[in-house]
Amino acid sequence: DRVGTPVVPAVTAAASVPLVTGGELDYANLDHAASAPCLAEVRRAVDEFLPYYASVHRGAGFASQVSTKVYERTRDVLRRFAGARPSDAVVFTRNTTDALNLLARSVPRRTSVVVFDTEHHAALLPWRGPNVQRIPLPATRLEAVSAVDEALRACPEGPRLVVVTGASNVTGELLPVADIAAVARRHGARVALDAAQLAPHRPISVRELDVDYVALSGHKLYAPFGAGALIGRADWLRAADPYLAGGGATKSVRRNGEAVGVAWQAGASERHEAGSPNTVGVYALGVACERLSASWDAVIAHEEALLDRLERGLAAVPGLSELRLFDGGVSRVGTVSFVLTGTDPGRLAAVLSAEYGIGVRDGAFCAHIAVSRLVARTGEEGTQALRVSLGLGTTPEHVDRLITALRQVVARGPRWTYALVEGQWAP
Ligand code: PMP
Repeated sequence: DRVGTPVVPAVTAAASVPLVTGGELDYANLDHAASAPCLAEVRRAVDEFLPYYASVHRGAGFASQVSTKVYERTRDVLRRFAGARPSDAVVFTRNTTDALNLLARSVPRRTSVVVFDTEHHAALLPWRGPNVQRIPLPATRLEAVSAVDEALRACPEGPRLVVVTGASNVTGELLPVADIAAVARRHGARVALDAAQLAPHRPISVRELDVDYVALSGHKLYAPFGAGALIGRADWLRAADPYLAGGGATKSVRRNGEAVGVAWQAGASERHEAGSPNTVGVYALGVACERLSASWDAVIAHEEALLDRLERGLAAVPGLSELRLFDGGVSRVGTVSFVLTGTDPGRLAAVLSAEYGIGVRDGAFCAHIAVSRLVARTGEEGTQALRVSLGLGTTPEHVDRLITALRQVVARGPRWTYALVEGQWAP
């Protein structure tokens, strides 16, 4: 009876949460953009794998062989998930921050870097040297592409890299990655895609977008914490100093009189993955990627219906202003940030949690420049906002509960208050 019905992958059920009013509600996790709940299938797979995990690449024992096989096979899974070239390296990292820092440490000296100043700090900050341009993001996607063009024109001779996010972690809006990549190519620049927010919501293809690197995080992709990846061209990675010095990254270590001589691994992944890796996390990431790849139609349909419900609900909340990077209603994944007139986002997030069992994020979302600029654009005070983000753990009831809550909070008028009492927000 399910023929023709798109099947949305199930996530592990969230627990009920206590309310200050004394009752309990099932947890409405509207913070998928921070970390997504684990897929039920990932949880099962991890459970099956746990008895076999062991040190990879270092043991002849059966568990080590199984672990090594699983770990190495997951590189192919990630390559497929990202639509990467067969020659692309897959380096497992802790997360996107780690992946982009690895790339920053691997670019040739004097590489010119162009990045929008509205990016997540993980994409904005790792770059060093005199040739880094952090440019303001213009108000349209077309102008954004021209701004990259102009910045690349101003670069000195030498290697060039453009760093761009696929989807904003503040507004969910999609950046014109393929157009930026086309401009970059004309200037001989490489492109790194921060896919932390895009990869959980849309298929990505390194080849179709014509980008050079992709960075992503397992914990945003419905797998547990601690595993991410940098996928992309191997040459700079192979030529760079190892990201971490230690076992696994070395071919040989010898005493040379007073000195210790080290020959490092030449392969991009071995060279940069010193130490015992997160075998279980990598396996979980791979299972999540395979499950999402098999379900994109269902995932997108599920999220678009919820996003539509959310947008329509928010539009009817008095005094609510959404943050937007671009003019003109650009497509977005299910992430929306907003401010409510005269309302501190921290207190609002606290009341949503304490009274309604809703988890959202408040603050500046590790994108301080973007959030303060976009809040100012709404005409409201402050440098912080509230972010609601949807995903596979979201139900229509969660969205409706949020909208009801916001309307009720607004109806209380300006006198409602929450205070920090012994580290907890309370009415
Ligand atoms: N880039 C973007 C767009 C993000 O949203 C995030 C996470 N908020 C990151 C990078 C960093 O990811 P992680 O914390 O997993 O390193």
